[in-house]
Amino acid sequence: MATTTKEAAAVAEVTHWIGGRPWDGPVERWGDVYDPATGARTTRVAFASPAVVDAAVGKASEAAVAWRTTSLAARSRVLFAFRELVAKNRERLAAAITREHGKVLSDALGEVTRGLEVVEFACGLPQLLKGEFSENVSTDVDSYSIRQPLGVVAGITPFNFPAMVPMWMYPLAIACGNAFILKPSEKDPSVTNLCAELLAEAGLPEGVFSIVHGDKVAVDAILQHPGIAAVSFVGSTPIARYIYENATRVGKRVQALAGAKNHMVVLPDADMDLAADAAVSAGYGSAGERCMAISVVVAVGASADGLLPKVRERIRRLKVAAGNEPGAEMGPLVTREHHARVVGYVEKGLGEGATLLEDGRALRVAGHEDGYFLGPCLFDRVTPEMTIYRDEIFGPVLSVVRATTYDEALALVNANPWANGVAIFTNDGGAARRFQNEVQVGMVGVNVPIPVPMAYYSFGGWKSSLFGDTHVHGREGVHFYTRGKVVTSRWPDPQHRGVNLGFPQMK
Ligand code: NAD
Repeated sequence: MATTTKEAAAVAEVTHWIGGRPWDGPVERWGDVYDPATGARTTRVAFASPAVVDAAVGKASEAAVAWRTTSLAARSRVLFAFRELVAKNRERLAAAITREHGKVLSDALGEVTRGLEVVEFACGLPQLLKGEFSENVSTDVDSYSIRQPLGVVAGITPFNFPAMVPMWMYPLAIACGNAFILKPSEKDPSVTNLCAELLAEAGLPEGVFSIVHGDKVAVDAILQHPGIAAVSFVGSTPIARYIYENATRVGKRVQALAGAKNHMVVLPDADMDLAADAAVSAGYGSAGERCMAISVVVAVGASADGLLPKVRERIRRLKVAAGNEPGAEMGPLVTREHHARVVGYVEKGLGEGATLLEDGRALRVAGHEDGYFLGPCLFDRVTPEMTIYRDEIFGPVLSVVRATTYDEALALVNANPWANGVAIFTNDGGAARRFQNEVQVGMVGVNVPIPVPMAYYSFGGWKSSLFGDTHVHGREGVHFYTRGKVVTSRWPDPQHRGVNLGFPQMK
């Protein structure tokens, strides 16, 4: 945790949300949250013990019994009401995100909107939960499939989208008839409590949605709790692997979305203005703290000569400022420790021989001298052996790797252990089509740098960017939060057909 003597005028207190209200039981440990733009402590957040997690599971288990038999119409009505409330409170939610995460307000508003799209998808869930029915599979026998909720499910989420990533999970889980327990990031916890209040206002019964704040202690209690049937996780690769291994070992269903190193391949025939806009937006938006951020531009053939001057020109025009300042385009990094880590990578890049074309280390934001700001950094002539290529930096540091041919660029992308998102920029439809077929990555953009699927498709990567088989939201999300069952039923005409000890045959 960062140490600072500065405090915001009023330090807020955020505690767990259990049984439809803030937790009023004992809190043994607290964590501190800082405003990244000023370095001042703004919030203290409760850290859950295993007893708190147990209390949340107890309430959730009770609530899940009635919720799973609540009609689909009544469930979707709650989600429709929640949708309206989130839309109405967009600014308030975005301000809470900016205060603790640091991202600029326009970006925080965008995050709420993308989360809202999943809520809207969940509103239509009765359609997605429809099963199949076959009449007369045998004489007097019908067969049909149904999908049922799992019971109590949990979500563990990262700091970088404190409203949207939880919304990838709980609207669908709840719509499917489960009770949901969220363990948000301890770095920017407040917005999730605002969402919990809105869910209660929307009419969600007590206990169907709970929040346990905290760190590894809370996470381990979730992983070990026998009352939790499934865990959705989004975060870094080492923790995703830990979650997957430990939760599946005790029989839980797990989807664990992990880290990334997203490449943007630029072919020489690309529209270089479009590509430069895309590289800067996707490389430095949200200070590079996006799992779909572009961190490597692969410049094929002569494209670097056309592209790099345009990228540099755009970088120099970026307005780095506190997230709530009008016109701010890039805010600070989330914590002092993360800032130091990212600066460390810039130094490593220099030490390993990459060319630093733009150096944001000296940037100071007037009036925010204690903020965790780092200006955009651009490295050229990065090679795959370098640490800045191999590690996920998660900051405003963009690397350019030069490739001679399309095949060399494709081989580079496919050799990378991460495979979350990728983009190709070209004016050749055939090349783009070949790329989307050959590239081994979960989400692909063609002249689109951040190809985040809409809520009705599923979001997720391949290889070390995903542990488990199921992506989030869309149809795969519905499958994750439900179990399939097939019923074969006989309602014979009223006549006895006799005993048959043979293997059932369909006639
Ligand atoms: P993180 O892995 O540090 O934390 C994620 C969650 O795990 C938090 O709730 C945290 O409290 C918990 N956690 C942290 N350390 C733990 C430990 N030792 N044991 C148990 N639980 C622990 O990730 P972060 O820094 O909050 O978020 C950034 C990371 O998330 C990046 O790697 C980014 O790529 C990834 N991410 C991936 C996606 C995706 O869809 N693939 C989306 C968003 C973020």
